[in-house]
Amino acid sequence: MTRMNRRRFVKNVALASPILLAPELLAGCNKLKIPKGSYSGKIIVIGAGAAGMVAAKLLTERNVDVLVLEAASVHGGRVLPLNDFASFPVELGAEEVHGHRTRWYQIVKDANADFINEPGENYYFLDSKVQIESKIRNDAESSKALDMVAAMDTYSGGEITAEQYSINNGVTAHVKFIDDAQVGGEFGTSMDRLSFSGVKTSNDLWSAGNNNYMIKNKSLLSVLDNYCSNMLSKIIYDTQVVSIDYSQPKIILTDQNGSTYEADKVIIAVPLTVLQQNSIAFTPALPATKISAINGIGIGAGMKIILKFNAAFWQNDLGSLYSDGVVPEYWPTALEKSTSDFLLTAFVMGSFAEYLSAQGSNAVTLCLTQLDAAYAGAATAHFTDSHIIDWSLQPFIGGAYSFPTQTSNQPRTDLAASVSDKLYFAGEATNTEGSFATVHGAVDSAFKVVEEILS
Ligand SMILES: Cc1cc2nc3c(=O)[nH]c(=O)nc-3n(C[C@H](O)[C@H](O)[C@H](O)COP(=O)(O)OP(=O)(O)OC[C@H]3O[C@@H](n4cnc5c(N)ncnc54)[C@H](O)[C@@H]3O)c2cc1C
Repeated sequence: MTRMNRRRFVKNVALASPILLAPELLAGCNKLKIPKGSYSGKIIVIGAGAAGMVAAKLLTERNVDVLVLEAASVHGGRVLPLNDFASFPVELGAEEVHGHRTRWYQIVKDANADFINEPGENYYFLDSKVQIESKIRNDAESSKALDMVAAMDTYSGGEITAEQYSINNGVTAHVKFIDDAQVGGEFGTSMDRLSFSGVKTSNDLWSAGNNNYMIKNKSLLSVLDNYCSNMLSKIIYDTQVVSIDYSQPKIILTDQNGSTYEADKVIIAVPLTVLQQNSIAFTPALPATKISAINGIGIGAGMKIILKFNAAFWQNDLGSLYSDGVVPEYWPTALEKSTSDFLLTAFVMGSFAEYLSAQGSNAVTLCLTQLDAAYAGAATAHFTDSHIIDWSLQPFIGGAYSFPTQTSNQPRTDLAASVSDKLYFAGEATNTEGSFATVHGAVDSAFKVVEEILS
């Protein structure tokens, strides 16, 4: 997720010093205490993403008999570094740590992460010129698009899509790409699919803080591995759970090869898409409220295209480039991580991602053409390599991250609710505190579910 309004905050305000943050960090430390209580039965966690890993780590610390079944041959899920493309790990999924008042921020700090100091400026390719934000702010037309970004925190009207809000407020087609990126893209979709009141509700619940942090000296996966080191040996890879029978006292899980596993409780920490696609058959069927929640919350296509060049041709202080066209937003990937790698990340969500996904490898050419327009042909001239991650095609993931739709006002509580004291649900989409679509939201969901089981 790129919480763009929060990114923007960071770009304009120097990062708060660790000394100033100390009281909140202490609060974070307390929050990291493992939940109280115990449990003597067997627990199986399905999915070794951030939520599943943290849940298994906490249960292991409480000496609970726990096993993790992971469909892929790697763990981490949507925390996924690309290791051999540059001199540093390129984050293909989660990249930023959103806010400092979270358990996840504390975990990252405890892993001795170094944060990037200068996230750079927002630039816009508008009227055939690449212009800094302070310049386009003076323009009445662009201001309307930028005002919509601020309205994500202040909107007080009824249910409406972000697209409709933009039309009602006079955002013209000429500058709509700004909101496609900073409103739609930020929430992992396109504006016509996004509930604007849902955005406001989630922003009201958001308590993580407004700063964003990017780590320069390690991957997010290495942080997760470090924190969850006690459970890594409990992961059984290449094991896709295809059915869960919870009709008897013991729960029986079956994998894609027909092997079965027995548990007293199961934590389901798979992406929302897996539940939407009915990839796991439940006996008995899940309650109607759960099914309605699963289908009411949005999740869709999302891609990152990493473009490698033999020289930087963009502004020295570029934080993000917003541009009308196939990709609403690009950012320099190597910012403060390397001076010898020249990379741009194309960040594409919703209908933009569906379009580019259908283009196959031609997507790269389309990106280069778009960048050539902004930088006088320099993108194609300096291009050397690319890597595409298409999250909707990623096995066992199937989409980017969840977002509020017009039918999903309250169902995250239904999605998060346990069933029959046997099935427990964790993962970013189950976060009811406005932190869905984030790693810290997934981590918090794991604490919540473990607390529920142990108490
Ligand atoms: C492009 C992109 C950018 C992002 N940027 C950020 C960011 O900057 N900051 C941020 O905080 N967040 C960001 N996010 C969101 C963040 O990555 C997720 O919210 C978080 O990682 C989700 O963790 P999770 O444990 O809920 O799910 P996942 O990480 O998806 O883990 C679920 C696991 O379940 C496994 N699984 C699926 N089906 C089965 C099955 N049937 N049986 C067994 N295992 C199964 C999967 O293989 C996977 O390992 C981004 C995500 C994407 C895609």
